[in-house]
Amino acid sequence: MSSTTPLLIVVSGPSGVGKDALLCQMKDLGYPYFFAVTATTRPQRPGETDGVDYHFITEAKFTDMIERGELLEWANVYGNLYGIPKKPVEQALVEGKDVIVRIDVQGAATIKRIAPHASLIFVSPPSMEELQRRLRERKTESPADLELRLKIAQREMETLPSFDYVVVSQKDGMDVAISQIEAIITAEKCRRRGLRFTVRLGGEPLNAEPWNLEPIDLPEVFLDGKEKIPGAASNQPAQ
Ligand code: 5GP
Repeated sequence: MSSTTPLLIVVSGPSGVGKDALLCQMKDLGYPYFFAVTATTRPQRPGETDGVDYHFITEAKFTDMIERGELLEWANVYGNLYGIPKKPVEQALVEGKDVIVRIDVQGAATIKRIAPHASLIFVSPPSMEELQRRLRERKTESPADLELRLKIAQREMETLPSFDYVVVSQKDGMDVAISQIEAIITAEKCRRRGLRFTVRLGGEPLNAEPWNLEPIDLPEVFLDGKEKIPGAASNQPAQ
């Protein structure tokens, strides 16, 4: 168990900006974070590994997971369903690991609502032209899907001001972006020292206060958004 409260870090940004490549590189470099694997109904692309890049599941199974409350967050992105299985995230937090989730901008907004202490990082392209170039060059979408993603990208860029941090993913600049994400995590860890921050995903509190610190009266955080401690400040997500 780490000596500081584990963080929930959201890495978001428009499709095609390079979030996956960034996080993949961080995994390969052995960063000690828990990288949540999303479940999706999107067809598997060549080169993707089930259980590593995504859990590729059927729509029926996805619906079942929604109904059982097994997803931390889910969204329909470009016509496919994407969602983060709750249990592995819960387990990682119990073990004191910092968790990184990679989600689209609507998912980031949901996480912020249900876990206000989550740290939101927006991965931005250096320009819209560069984003369009990257999306076209990766050739993973059908022409219609590509057009849809390009159209939505502009709107996704407009959500940037609601994020806590921005990392610009420069062409050939992955190392810089990774070290910036690392610096953000370090800064967030320093910031949280002294805060009373209890993460709950529905069961018992997962993490107690840091030691020897004056507790500050912050509301507990509920990732399932269902429970409320009597007397605690309102921390229910907006319905
Ligand atoms: P792709 O199909 O290109 O892998 O991903 C499409 C979009 O879905 C990306 O913006 C990606 O970040 C987003 N995405 C991946 N996993 C999740 C998730 O668990 N929740 C949400 N809301 N979006 C996700």
